[in-house]
Amino acid sequence: MRWGVPRERRAGERRVALVPETVAALSAGGHEVWVERGAGDGAGHADEAYARQGARLVEREEALGCEAVLKVRAPLPGEETEALVPGAVLVAMLQPLVDPAPAQALARRGVASFSLDLVPRTTRAQAMDVLSAMSTVAGYRAAVDAALLARRFFPMLMTAAGTVAPARVLVLGAGVAGLQAIATCRRLGAVVQAFDARPAVREQVESLGASFLGMPPLETSAEGEGGYARALAADEEAREREFLAEAVSRADVVITTALVPGARAPLLIDEGMVAAMRPGSVIVDLAAEAGGNCALTVPGETVVRSGVTVHGPLDVASAMPAPASQLYARAATAFARHLLAAGVPAPVPDPAPAPPEDPIVAATLLTWGGAVVHDGVRRRLESAEQRGG
Ligand code: NAD
Repeated sequence: MRWGVPRERRAGERRVALVPETVAALSAGGHEVWVERGAGDGAGHADEAYARQGARLVEREEALGCEAVLKVRAPLPGEETEALVPGAVLVAMLQPLVDPAPAQALARRGVASFSLDLVPRTTRAQAMDVLSAMSTVAGYRAAVDAALLARRFFPMLMTAAGTVAPARVLVLGAGVAGLQAIATCRRLGAVVQAFDARPAVREQVESLGASFLGMPPLETSAEGEGGYARALAADEEAREREFLAEAVSRADVVITTALVPGARAPLLIDEGMVAAMRPGSVIVDLAAEAGGNCALTVPGETVVRSGVTVHGPLDVASAMPAPASQLYARAATAFARHLLAAGVPAPVPDPAPAPPEDPIVAATLLTWGGAVVHDGVRRRLESAEQRGG
C-alpha cells in the first residue's frame, strides 16, 4: 500500500505530517511512502533526507492520489480535496468540531477520513495523542514569547550592580499547554503561580515548582467529562475573575491557556483587570483561537492596552515547525499503524464494509462509505442546515 505525504498548502502552515525519522515506521510491513517534493521544507527536512530513509519523492498529484494520505491539516476545498481518490484513507487533524465543512466535502468525495484531534485521551491512545503533542509545543512557545515580550529577566540575578528580582508569572489553565508553560517559565527562573478551574491539577502544578491559587469551590464541580473542565455559567466566571483580580494585577506576565472543548474560551481577564496591571506587563493568550481568555485579545495580533502588551497568537504549534512536525509525525505514524493493525483496508472498497469496532478507530472515524458518520459532527451539520433553511 502507498502512503502519500503532500506538502501542506494552508497559508502559514509550516509543519509536515511525516519527518524522515518516521518513514521507516510507516513503511514497515512492505508499505511504500510517497512524499511530495518540498513537503518537509517548512520544517527543515530536505527531500534527500526522506529519500535516504527509503521514501519516494513524487509530484503533488501523486502524493494526494495514494491509497492512504497523511496530512496535518484538512485538505483545502476544491483542487486538493478532488485530488484524493474515492476509497482512499485520509489521516489528518481535520478539526470537524470547529469547522465541519471539510467533513462534508470528504464524504462527498468518498474518502474514509480519520481525525487525529478526536483521538481519545486514554492511556492506550497516549502515543497517538496529537492534541497533547501540539499543546506541549504551544505551552513552551507561549513562555518563550512571554519572556521576549516582557523585556525583563525571568530569573533573579545577583550582579555587582545589585540584585534584580525574578519575574512573577501567572498561568491560567493548567492543562497540557499550561503545565508546559509553567515548566518552561520555571526553567527560566521565574516565580510562577497557577490557577485552574479543576482543583485536581494542584499536585501537578506544585510538582513543577509553582504555587497553586486555590479558589473556594463552586457549588457544582468544574470538572466536566473526560478530564476536561465544563463551561462555567456567567456568574461562576464572574466569581473567577473577582478571585483572580489581585493575582493578575501583581503579575509581570500572565499566560492564559483555559479552554473548554466545543465552547468559547472562558473569559478570565476583563478590561478593568488589564488596566490594573503595571505598564510593561504582558499577557500571552493561548486561547485566542477560541475567542480568548482576555477581553482585549485580538486573535493573531499583539496590541498594547493601558501599557500592557496583549499577545494573541494563532497556529502556535506551526510557529515551531521542526519539533511540532517531529511529535506530530510520531503520533500520526502510531495512529496509521494502529489503523492497519485494526484491519482498516486502504483503499476502502465500494460498497464499504462496516469499520472495525476498535475504540480508537471508532472515536476518530469521521467519514466512511460516502457519509459523515461521527455523531457530534453530524449533529453540528444538521443544526447548521436547520439554521440555514
Ligand atoms: P484543555 O486544552 O481543554 O483546557 C486547558 C485547561 O483549561 C484545562 O486544565 C482546564 O481545566 C482549564 N480550564 C477550562 N476552563 C477554565 C476556567 N473557567 N478557569 C480556569 N481554567 C479553566 O485541556 P487539555 O490540556 O487538553 O487537557 C485537560 C486534561 O485532560 C489534562 O489535564 C489531563 O487530565 C487530561 N489528559 C489526559 C490524557 C491521557 O490520559 N492520555 C492526555 C492529555 C490530557
